Amino acid sequence: MAGIIDGKAIAAKIKEGLMSEVERFKRERNITPGLSVILVGDNPASRIYVKNKGRACEEVGIRSTQHTLPAQTTRKELLDLISALNGDPSVHAILVQLPLPSRLDTHEVLEAISPEKDVDGFHPYNVGRLVCGRPAFIPCTPKGIMRLIDSTGVTLSGQEAVVLGRSNVVGKPTAFMLLQRDVTVTVCHSKTRGLPEKILSADIVVAAIGRPEFVKGKWIKPGAIVIDVGINRTERGLAGDVEFGAAKERASYITPVPGGVGPMTIAMLLSNTVEAAKRAENFL
Ligand code: NAP
Repeated sequence: MAGIIDGKAIAAKIKEGLMSEVERFKRERNITPGLSVILVGDNPASRIYVKNKGRACEEVGIRSTQHTLPAQTTRKELLDLISALNGDPSVHAILVQLPLPSRLDTHEVLEAISPEKDVDGFHPYNVGRLVCGRPAFIPCTPKGIMRLIDSTGVTLSGQEAVVLGRSNVVGKPTAFMLLQRDVTVTVCHSKTRGLPEKILSADIVVAAIGRPEFVKGKWIKPGAIVIDVGINRTERGLAGDVEFGAAKERASYITPVPGGVGPMTIAMLLSNTVEAAKRAENFL
């Protein structure tokens, strides 16, 4: 039976550390790290995510400001706001909550954020740094996934991993981070053939597809580490992408949903924000 990786507890510990770093920053330099979050439109899930991010900032002492723009906001209005925040020295970090309304070009908007303030790590500069093995800002969910895998104490070098999902937000950056740690990585997606066999050969499985309990317990190699990124709302409540009950009988370690990757994503956003402020203020 697998050990449960308690993302909530690990995230709480990280937040404690950040809280004392923020305190030291204020005490020694009279500077409060600042995060600005931009929300366009009224997607209910996005509104909850933004609220949770604001609350988490408050918990550790980061100053967070929220810019809520109407759904009909023009490209120019949004780009002007980002430009103003780029130039505001009290704003160390900027996050545009996705998804944006479809008439706005997400790539253009993300590229408008100054790479030094891009705490989501989605700007092509930061993506390029990650791919080159010289990361600057690493996207929050993949960074959290790596922390969870490392919490098991398992040596990664030489292990085989399957990353299920190839999004820019989760799958691709996670694959590059694992590769950077000398893991042999197979990235799978909706056109991949023979998925069960591929997963069955993996020492590490990262499931990020958004399909409730898609990965069956019998596909898990005995002793594998299973990281379940999926958040799926079902009639029975929240479910991950992995059939948790059966998978935990075979895995060595597994993350629950909720309480696994989710809390780590927010903790890593806070961590990137403090990092951005430290770099901008040359505070070591
Ligand atoms: P996404 O952009 O929709 O990407 C989904 C990926 O899964 C795509 O690469 C897609 O393949 C692949 N896929 C879909 N159905 C598949 C199937 N039947 N077999 C194999 N691959 C399949 O999703 P995302 O943003 O990466 O998020 C994935 C999940 O993680 C969602 O449930 C999301 O809510 C969750 N999530 C959680 C957190 C957290 O903090 N816990 C953060 C981000 C995301 P194609 O590329 O071929 O279409």
